[in-house]
Amino acid sequence: MPDLTTDVRYIKGVGEQRAKALEKLGIHTLKDLISYFPRAYDDRRSYKKISDLEDGETACVEAMVASTPTLSRIRKGLELVKLRAVDETGALDVTFFNQAYMKDNLHPGETYTFFGKAEVSGRRRTMASPVVEREGSRLVTGRIMPIYRLTAGVSQLTMVKCMEQGLSACQKLLPDPLPESVRQEHHLCRIGYAYEQIHFPSGDEELALARRRLVFEELFLLAIGIKRLRGRREEVTCPPWQNTDLSDFTASLSFTLTNAQQRAIDDIRADLTSGRVMNRLIQGDVGSGKTMVAAAALLCAVRSGKQAALMAPTEILAEQHYKGLAPLLEKLGVTCALLTGAMGAKARRAVLSGLETGAIQVAIGTHALITADVTYRDLGLVVTDEQHRFGVAQRSALAAKGDRPHLLVMSATPIPRTLALMIYGDLDVSIINELPPGRQKIDTFAVPGSYHQRIYKFLEKEISAGRQAYIVCSMVEENDQIPDDRKAASEYAQMLQREVFPHLTIACVHGRMKPKEKEKVMSSFASGQIHILVSTTVIEVGVDVPNATVMVIEDADRFGLSQLHQLRGRVGRGQYKSYCILISDNRTDDARTRLEAMKKTGDGFKIAEADLQLRGPGDFFGHRQHGLPDLKVADLSCDMTLLKEAQSAAEQLLSRDPDLISCPETAARVEEMFSANENTLN
Ligand code: ADP
Ligand code: MG
Repeated sequence: MPDLTTDVRYIKGVGEQRAKALEKLGIHTLKDLISYFPRAYDDRRSYKKISDLEDGETACVEAMVASTPTLSRIRKGLELVKLRAVDETGALDVTFFNQAYMKDNLHPGETYTFFGKAEVSGRRRTMASPVVEREGSRLVTGRIMPIYRLTAGVSQLTMVKCMEQGLSACQKLLPDPLPESVRQEHHLCRIGYAYEQIHFPSGDEELALARRRLVFEELFLLAIGIKRLRGRREEVTCPPWQNTDLSDFTASLSFTLTNAQQRAIDDIRADLTSGRVMNRLIQGDVGSGKTMVAAAALLCAVRSGKQAALMAPTEILAEQHYKGLAPLLEKLGVTCALLTGAMGAKARRAVLSGLETGAIQVAIGTHALITADVTYRDLGLVVTDEQHRFGVAQRSALAAKGDRPHLLVMSATPIPRTLALMIYGDLDVSIINELPPGRQKIDTFAVPGSYHQRIYKFLEKEISAGRQAYIVCSMVEENDQIPDDRKAASEYAQMLQREVFPHLTIACVHGRMKPKEKEKVMSSFASGQIHILVSTTVIEVGVDVPNATVMVIEDADRFGLSQLHQLRGRVGRGQYKSYCILISDNRTDDARTRLEAMKKTGDGFKIAEADLQLRGPGDFFGHRQHGLPDLKVADLSCDMTLLKEAQSAAEQLLSRDPDLISCPETAARVEEMFSANENTLN
């Protein structure tokens, strides 16, 4: 009697050979097998009489083989089997290419079901390489067929057969990870039914029911796992910080904090005084003023007698933060220092010793902050900016320099809230969904490539008024297979220099440059020595050049909305009116909808929602840093409603039964789902 852990090789009809092939698909046990869901379906339910077949139509035909199949070799390597099949309405000429065995498999006088695409020309009806089986067998015709992702040595048919065996072997064995009460309350079908129907749906509604249940299950387990992780993290205690009064800080600013900034700061102060270690993500659109929130946190640390460190992904960003924050903090009596890899040995030694003695209270820098020779007297708070640029390892390396320091992560990628809760796992999230008042709207235009000359004229005008511009072109290093030479950043820059702007200074940055070279170009752009910076998307990270007023994006349709939004956020950072010009010759509906969305709104969160709907979560989930378990059936962009439902079900269950005593199967599955991700969650 098999159970779910039984090796697939012992399942009837599988055997050694196939088991080996299945292994390549990650299928080892019976459980793996039945959890290998189809990637698509082929609806083969439509039956037609031969005379009713229309040209181009895909259908099943039940017909008798009326001629002995013939085999001919058309040319080397191309074998053709031909036969004629008939039903009471007409004749169908069937051909098979390079399937010589069909000659002996199909017998005159026998009736078969042929499924394929019909071609009709005049009175002649043909079908090339149809799927065939004996009439009435209904294994690969006459039903909705699952389509599996395959590997060498496993055909669709083999997969279907293995799956049927697998399912019938474990129908009664499947334990349900959903508690019965949850299943009933949310009108979800039973697990056995769901597995059967997801593989072999008897109809569209049945498939929808099965899918809904499996998606819910997955999201429910995910939500439980995340909430439990958060629970675990909260148990890390530390003495509550005493002095988080910031009234002198707010008073010293030349502006009033926005409500959203204030809320984020309040969240942070509540964390710091709670007696638990803070793990908080600050999410805010570009320009929403995250740095001030970080500054408030840094100050709290100093006020509580601790040191704090702020880590940025590049030297130029670190310097920008230092220049912005040091005067502000020093005014309040805080000693700050910059620490980057570019510093001379002597300056560096001074900073290191200041950090060790505690004379320096706030360190701002790059990953130079975490190299082995840096020691802190008492590091109580770690802030990382633009977190998606850092691996979890780097963040923990910085945290390891202190004794369970508080952790604050700042991200400029707006993500819809529910999604953020999922992605950032056990981080608490504060959202800054408001820009400081008086920000100018960036005028956004979507134009075809034929506008290039006009755009160049416009650039000329802005530059002669003293401004600077960015031009972004897509895909130099992102897609090595299809290098787009015309627009590769360096060639484009050269072309502009030679043919359009011989009198201007044009430079280029791209992903293949060394970080040092890149930073050098970026800082001469920041200091105004370069008029036009041509780049790939490397400028995405929050570099602040207030004098830049035009962002031109070539082939804008190739970028995700959130990415376009990030790019656009590079301009409009100063007092000058700014523009974003999206160039695209893509006339598809999808491309137009996306560029329209960019024109309509400047709100990063709205754009993120739209992006998620239009493009799916790949943008956010492209890199595996989020550390979530892989989702098999759920699609976080489409299944938003179900996601919310599953989340609230998970919350309810956990508040009733935090240790999942009443549902051991749920607990086991959550454990299993997260076991591979122990250390990857933020
Ligand atoms: P980001 O969230 O993109 O990191 P920054 O922190 O760099 O944004 O802030 C962008 C600009 O807005 C900075 O010049 C900063 O001084 C300014 N700023 C921040 N908060 C406010 C505010 N409440 N009112 C006006 N200006 C602000
Ligand atoms: Mg920033």
